[in-house]
Amino acid sequence: MELFVTRTNTCGELRSAHVGQEVTLYGWIQYQRQGLFLVLRDFQGLTQIIIPQDEAHAHVKKLLSNAPVESVVRVTGIVSLRPPGQENPKMPTGDIEVKVETAEVLNSCKKLPFEIKDFIKKSEALRMQYRYLDLRSFQLQYNLRLRSQIVMRMREYLCNLHGFVDVETPTLFKRTPGGAKEFLVPSREVGKFYSLPQSPQQFKQLLMVGGLDRYFQVARCYRDEGSRPDRQPEFTQIDIEMSFVDQAGIQRLIEGLLQYSWPKERGSITTPFPSMTYEEALADYGTDKPDTRFGMKIVDISDFLRGLDIQFVQNALSYPHGTVKAICIPQGVRYLKNKDLESLKESAKSQFNQEVMEIICRPDGSLKSLLTKFLGEKQQSELIQALNMQVDDVVLLAAGEHKQVCSALGSLRLESADLLEAAGLVLRDPSAFHFLWVVDFPLFLPKEENPAELESAHHPFTAPHPSDTSLLYSDPTKVRSQHYDLVLNGNEVGGGSIRIHNAEQQRFVLEKVLKEDSEVLSHLLEALEFGAPPHGGIALGLDRLISLIVDAPSIRDVIAFPKSFRGRDLMGNAPDYVTPEELEPYHIQVSWPLEEKEAKKN
Ligand code: ASP
Repeated sequence: MELFVTRTNTCGELRSAHVGQEVTLYGWIQYQRQGLFLVLRDFQGLTQIIIPQDEAHAHVKKLLSNAPVESVVRVTGIVSLRPPGQENPKMPTGDIEVKVETAEVLNSCKKLPFEIKDFIKKSEALRMQYRYLDLRSFQLQYNLRLRSQIVMRMREYLCNLHGFVDVETPTLFKRTPGGAKEFLVPSREVGKFYSLPQSPQQFKQLLMVGGLDRYFQVARCYRDEGSRPDRQPEFTQIDIEMSFVDQAGIQRLIEGLLQYSWPKERGSITTPFPSMTYEEALADYGTDKPDTRFGMKIVDISDFLRGLDIQFVQNALSYPHGTVKAICIPQGVRYLKNKDLESLKESAKSQFNQEVMEIICRPDGSLKSLLTKFLGEKQQSELIQALNMQVDDVVLLAAGEHKQVCSALGSLRLESADLLEAAGLVLRDPSAFHFLWVVDFPLFLPKEENPAELESAHHPFTAPHPSDTSLLYSDPTKVRSQHYDLVLNGNEVGGGSIRIHNAEQQRFVLEKVLKEDSEVLSHLLEALEFGAPPHGGIALGLDRLISLIVDAPSIRDVIAFPKSFRGRDLMGNAPDYVTPEELEPYHIQVSWPLEEKEAKKN
């Protein structure tokens, strides 16, 4: 008997051991067949209900036969074995059925915008508009319930086993310099706005100054980054900060946390996770979040080609950081069509402005390429060996500046893996989870829009690598940081750093390196002067982590009420217009672009 509610069982529970019992079930009508039986559904499963046909139960029969699908009903009846031959081995409750005695339609369902059954395809926009109906699907029920269990285990691990304190921090705050764009919230003070924090970063550091030396929070964060396919303007982090800790301490904590909260049905994960420097990640995989579930690493072949009289090779190698690199696509000849190869080359050109050349390994082991006429037999076999080429492999080769070549090949590596898999070659085990720490990031990177200026690779509070501290003042571009990212199957699922806890150094970074107005952060800078302890932390992106664990195509599939990729709530229609009267207390007026004014009129 379930506590607090009037049902005796859920719809997924009954087995042959229950035969003879009188039960009361509540659920939604999944199917109804010709007034003979129906299938009742709740989060746990499905139960077959037999509608009585005798005169005495005419009322119940009428009620259940007329109720539309997805109406919510109560049935009370006796659990019986299904007649021999009618068992359904695919259904956990498939041995039994419930013979109804009494029933009640608690609320009828009007015509549905889509069928609830998981196998029915529906557009994402429609699913989002009727999210409360979509939530009835087994898949979303599973995702949200698993998410809740994982978070519960994380709380247990952090608070009960390791003495962390769960502290809530404000979501109405002020602008943080550097990093993502923040949402503004108007205030009643003329011209003044709050910002919604992109993370509780400042507060968690201030908690360390306040002596709460192990903090965590399931924290809502906000970033106004416009439309991106797999980002949400609001998202959730498992946010962590500790005093008197080093990088290894945070890493071991997170490994323990993930191991403890990892769902049993997804196998087990081994710790410690492997680690790779930023430089290695870029050189071998062309990205700071390598998917290490498969090989196809980038190979530097500059030395094989250096002495040869090939114009584009010589050109590339004559520049500083000039290089020639390649990736080898296994069985590319068999699995990739010509148009696939063309689209790979086209994508390197359009995304990275990078020319790419192919080399094919023929069945007799010889190479087919525009390059071969420049290569002697010895050089050909050296190249085959360096790239570990087999018959029918395709090599993609790029020459140019190190970072550009690596980024282009890194992207082609992933694109060609997708193409190979679409053609039937299994490269990445869908049930494998490859965690990886990426460490030793540079502290600063050139700004994309203006490479002469620097921005923080992580955020402005990240401490320099202890052995590079003096470089901070002489050549900040060369400083490595104490920033670490956690990567899972090629996705960044977390990032953090050891922080600067010295006010002077923090002021130097803000003012002299990043050219930010440190006045906005005067409270933090001042706090660092009051005996701030050394500290560091990390944040895990909960939505992305859960979506990878349940193998969901989008983070929206693990969020109960997600925003569309344009940042809209399609169900409640947010953001929405407000009247000029509602804006008055905020001293704000909308200046309508002409075309929108027209659109609003119609
Ligand atoms: N606040 C950082 C972020 O949101 C994480 C951290 O450094 O702890 O990326």
